[in-house]
Amino acid sequence: MLVGDGILLVLLLINMMRVFRFILALIKYIIWGEQVTQEVYDKRLAKCERCDERCGKTCCVCGCYLNKKLQWSSESCPKNKW
Ligand code: SF4
Repeated sequence: MLVGDGILLVLLLINMMRVFRFILALIKYIIWGEQVTQEVYDKRLAKCERCDERCGKTCCVCGCYLNKKLQWSSESCPKNKW
């Protein structure tokens, strides 16, 4: 296997894990979750905006998109910041 193929395989696996985690989070939300209030959302957002573990619109720790993660009551911060 060429080095380039190995890198592509790793990137593919990372993306597959991210999709899998999102599907799990979505199932948790559908079964147990609800939308948080605007106040809770704003508090979560304020912490994520100041967090060193944020990578743009995603959390670097879990790889989740923050716009959904912050809205769902079934989600929590992997670093226990909220
Ligand atoms: S979810 Fe937690 S670890 Fe991730 S960016 Fe927000 S505060 Fe940071």
